[in-house]
Amino acid sequence: MRAEILVSGIVQGVGFRPFIYRKAVNNRLTGFVRNRGDAGVKIVVEGKQSDINQFLKDLETKKPVLAQIYNTQVNYKTREEGFADFKITKSSGATELSGSVIPPDVSICDECLQEIRDSENRRFNYFFTTCTDCGPRYTTITSLPYDRPNTTMNQFPMCEACAKEYTDPSNRRFHAQTVACPECGPKAYLVTNMGEPVESKDPIREIGKLLEEGSVVAIKGNGGFHVATATTKPEPITKLRKDKHRKNKPFAVMVPDLETVKSFAELNQSETELLMSYRKPIILLKKSPNYYLSELVSPQLHTVGVMLPYTGLHSMLFDQVKEPAFVMTSANPPSEPIVTDNNQAIQRLGKTVDYFLMHNRAVAQRCDDSVVRFHDKDPSLIRRSRGYAPEPVQIDFVSDRCVLAVGGELNVTSCILSQNRAFISQHIGDVENLENLRFLKDSITHLTNLTNCKIEKIACDLHPRFTTTKLAYDLAANLDCPVVQVQHHHTHAAALMAEWGISEIIAITCDGYGYGSDGSAWGGEVLYCNKESSQRLAHLEPQPIVGGDLATYYPLRIAAGILHKKMDVTDWLISNSKHLPHGKTEAKLIIKQLEKGSTPTTTSCGRVLDAVSALLEICYERSYEGEPAMKLESLATKGKDVLKLVPRINGNVLDTTVMVHEIFSNKNKVSVADLAFSVQSYLGRGLAELAVAQAEELKVKDIGFSGGVAYNEHITSTIRKTVENAGFRFFVHTKIPAGDGGTSFGQAVVAGLQKNQ
Ligand SMILES: [Zn+2]
Ligand SMILES: [Zn+2]
Ligand SMILES: [Zn+2]
Repeated sequence: MRAEILVSGIVQGVGFRPFIYRKAVNNRLTGFVRNRGDAGVKIVVEGKQSDINQFLKDLETKKPVLAQIYNTQVNYKTREEGFADFKITKSSGATELSGSVIPPDVSICDECLQEIRDSENRRFNYFFTTCTDCGPRYTTITSLPYDRPNTTMNQFPMCEACAKEYTDPSNRRFHAQTVACPECGPKAYLVTNMGEPVESKDPIREIGKLLEEGSVVAIKGNGGFHVATATTKPEPITKLRKDKHRKNKPFAVMVPDLETVKSFAELNQSETELLMSYRKPIILLKKSPNYYLSELVSPQLHTVGVMLPYTGLHSMLFDQVKEPAFVMTSANPPSEPIVTDNNQAIQRLGKTVDYFLMHNRAVAQRCDDSVVRFHDKDPSLIRRSRGYAPEPVQIDFVSDRCVLAVGGELNVTSCILSQNRAFISQHIGDVENLENLRFLKDSITHLTNLTNCKIEKIACDLHPRFTTTKLAYDLAANLDCPVVQVQHHHTHAAALMAEWGISEIIAITCDGYGYGSDGSAWGGEVLYCNKESSQRLAHLEPQPIVGGDLATYYPLRIAAGILHKKMDVTDWLISNSKHLPHGKTEAKLIIKQLEKGSTPTTTSCGRVLDAVSALLEICYERSYEGEPAMKLESLATKGKDVLKLVPRINGNVLDTTVMVHEIFSNKNKVSVADLAFSVQSYLGRGLAELAVAQAEELKVKDIGFSGGVAYNEHITSTIRKTVENAGFRFFVHTKIPAGDGGTSFGQAVVAGLQKNQ
């Protein structure tokens, strides 16, 4: 019996052909496998029907972790050619390249981990053990094709034993580009914060012990450095916060195993699966009632960011320690990208850390850890980076031009849209300084090379003064191609539409700030969006932002602005003026400005949440993005809807003044947690009602929620309930970040949908 099989999906560059080879040989089949120019794979097998059946079953159930099969076509023939054996045949160079997908970094697999633990194995204790199924990819590849000379492993010629595995198709390391062993691979070593080498036979475990004793250590990984400390003692975390200028921002922790995670955090089935998956992101888990790590890890939050070890090195750190977790935070000086170079690390981090755990392999692409939060079973990607980038997101239309999108200002990513696939870069960060801009440019070059794309159109934000807008126009001038500027909330709506393959939507898009098409500050919007355009239909009430950016950092300013609409805030603001950097003088100035009445306004949902957070004395100063609103949400988890405020809608505007005044007047009567809860309920219900009214009028069936506020579980679930009870379908992001990390994708989608431009 002969079977000709066509497989489409992500099946190139992911160890699929060696896998097919092994399964064919295991099932006593002969024939061949080769890549096709359309990114699929062709397999021809001959043998017994039962063996072919088993082979097809293996294809589905045992495929490599990175392979994704969209479709399998099988044609049976009775005539056989009589192959002598099974072969992997090469196609032409061009075919090999087209459609190949650069995989993301993959966490160490169980088999490799076992080898590290096996004293008989030649990879015993080897921290960089990898195979075709695991190891770094995106962070080591310098150019295409994905072959060892085009990776940072090119500095490490394979020893004889490794070369033998690499060339043996029946071996799990056949064509594993990062294959290495203690003999031939990168070495780990210990240096002081001055860069002086420290003699050590077992540097990784020694670092584990130093961490447990209270040292602060920088650890080089695949995509850059982490800074690590113990988690049960406050001292090293305090030191790190001080040196890193991170007053309150939560630190992620790495935990040796699932059992230990369960000892301080709660997790459901979906969270467990993703935590253990090859992607190994940081997952924001609820602290359990017996949470025992230092409160300084994630101050005033009900969640803690947890990840499991994703390299042999990480796993070995925990071997000889009792510490249940280590802080593992990206090592980057304030608003600069993660440090990747050994010498640079000593210069920039030397003052922060006591030791460095280095290795001598270069980082081709820096890449931060991904961050995911679950709303029940649905993953919500806060940062889509290691383990995900640059895996393409499949969309339901084909762009006739190759589009590059450069994102906005905060949490920037870049995106290349080629035909029906969107390649989103790793997390870049806030592009307001030169270092991060350089990182963004670098990621664009890298992504362009890896996707083999010729950019024909560039998309960016509507904001005339964003660094990324300027970058887009500079690039366009060089490449002689058009620029498409897309309104910020339109990108959120379009991203949601494209992610779900729907053609029109009423989108609620809530965040901190987006430049509106009328030039004002938006951030609590209800839009109608289809494949051609978007239209703003409703929004939150505009509220004064006294002092512009200052109001973002000190939300009391927003609270004062809202309260001022209905009362004299002088006494209240003066009595709270110790929470403003310049005290009474500043308070008086704010009141003066409010009385003058010429302050700019914003419809931002984030700013309203911030204002309430300050009003309720939860958070007066935003030391990291989202802080006041996140702390409000954390406190609200302990509350209930005591006030039961009915959303007041004036035309197409949700009144937020009445809500803030209700909160203010109930401050001493109702618990802060209940008030926090009531505010979120009000906003959730109010926004949903605005959307439902528009959907009914325009006869649109689908309603969605996007923007950074969509990370708020309570607001999202409240909107969902209201929308679904009204008989509409409700959509949120599960693959693309709801926040501004998804902006580049949305921009690319909008530009890709515009024909002939
Ligand atoms: Zn492996
Ligand atoms: Zn070797
Ligand atoms: Zn946004």
